[in-house]
This record gives sequence, structure tokens and C-alpha cells, in this order.
Amino acid sequence: MQVPTPIILSLCAYLIEPQGTKLWLLHVGNLECDEAWFKRGGGTSTLSNPNPARERRKLIMVSVLIEHPVDGLILFETGSGKDYPEIWGAPINDIFARVDYSEDQELDVQIKKTGHDIKNVKMVVIGHLHLDHAGGLEYFRNTGVPIYVHEKELKHAFYSVATKSDLGVYLPHYLTFDLTWVPFSGSFVEIAQGLNLHHAPGHTPGLCILQVNMPKTGTWVFTTDMYHVSENYEESVPQGWLAREHDDWVRSNQMIHMLQRRTGARMIFGHCAKALEGLKMAPHAYE
Ligand SMILES: [Zn+2]
Repeated sequence: MQVPTPIILSLCAYLIEPQGTKLWLLHVGNLECDEAWFKRGGGTSTLSNPNPARERRKLIMVSVLIEHPVDGLILFETGSGKDYPEIWGAPINDIFARVDYSEDQELDVQIKKTGHDIKNVKMVVIGHLHLDHAGGLEYFRNTGVPIYVHEKELKHAFYSVATKSDLGVYLPHYLTFDLTWVPFSGSFVEIAQGLNLHHAPGHTPGLCILQVNMPKTGTWVFTTDMYHVSENYEESVPQGWLAREHDDWVRSNQMIHMLQRRTGARMIFGHCAKALEGLKMAPHAYE
């Protein structure tokens, strides 16, 4: 049987593992908030328990630096940026509070640990444009470094801020015209050999997860906030107050579970410290 060329090409995209690719997990901060933001029904009162204890959870912020043999240094997401509690202002910085901070968690310092300089980053890929993932774009103003993001996410972020329909999770601070925005569209894009973006709407309309095929450690999937913590993925618990399009989230959840089954991928969620246990942050490089 003859297999059509487009099918062969899309299969290849899943399988390519460019030799020489390295990957670092960058620890770019810690937040603390009420778990009902990211777990549906967290802390809900009932007739038998009208005043349940509120659960507060610590969330880790992670970016990923990839040294690619063809395309150079690629950064996936940027954390919150410098001095973000002041930039966010009240009440956001009280709801999503910065905790356990050290200067070591600044994006440029984390990249230094890998032996690289933030000035040598060749492209930035944003999974979604919420403030704790895109605030660090400020480092790339007037640099000409392309900022890849799904067309739907870019439009939604600017619209949400301009009309104030979802202002707070998106901020005008980094939605500026001195950044080199490069939108892409569709459900699947191979952004570089072995680096695949899958559109996974739900938490936001243009959210994309990143699949990285590594030569020695196999497939990694970085879900950004499609899943904040492991329970969102492992128990299919949707987000709480941070949920937006529920049916889209359910469809994306199915797609990602299938992707994981097909590839055996290691899953890294948007903010889950537990899922990172046993993994090493920069300067340790994965191959
Ligand atoms: Zn987040």
C-alpha cells in the first residue's frame, strides 16, 4: 500500500530527534495561591461542611532553554520578568503572591547557569501569554528576536487587555509593539527539527504545548498551563477560577493523553513542583 506523502511527513515530525540537542529546566520563581484557582471545586462548601479549610498551594515557575544543533538557542516561555510584584500591583500580587524569592531565579541569571547568555537566544516560543509566562518578554524589546506564538493567542491577549475583558491574567506591560511578534496558526507546527507545537485551547484560546524529541532522554512534553498541576492531567480535573473554555479544554485533554500514550513522553506541567521531583534544574543539561 502506498502511504501518502503528507502522512509520512507528519509521522517524521514526531520521530525526529536531532543529535546534539540539549535542554535545561530553568527555575524562574515561586508563587502561592488558593488552589481553587487551578483545581475545579477546591474548597467548595457543602451542607455538611459549610466552612471547609481553604487550601493554599505553592506553584513553581519554569522556563525551558533548548540548545538546538540547527536553530541555536530556543527559549520556551519567560516567567514573570523583573520586579513583577510591583508591575502586577494589587490585588494580583496578593492573590498570586511571590514567595521564596531569590535573585538566582531571574531569567537572565538562570540562563547564565547553562553557560549561555540571554543575548544569544535566537527565538522565543510562548505557550500562552498569561503574565507569569510572558512577563519576561521585556528582555527581548527592540532586539529583533522572533517571539513565536499562536495567532489566536496573540489576538486574544491584545483584545483582552484593550477591552479589559480579561485584564489581569494578561497585562499591557509585555504586549508591546517593540517585540518582534511572529504568529503561527493551525493545530500543529514543527517550529524546529524535533520541536513540535500542538494547539491545545481551553485554558486560553491559543495555548500550545511543546513536544521536544531528545536524542537520549526521549520525548518531553511541556504543557504550560493546559495543566497547572499533575492532578489536572492525571485525574482530568479542570481548572477552577482560571478555567475559560471548558469543552475546548476537554478536547485538548484527550489529544494530550493520546500524544503521551503514543510517544511515552515525560510530562512537565505549568507549575507543578511535585512533577519536577527527581529532575534536575539548570545547570544540569538533559540530552
Ligand atoms: Zn501560569
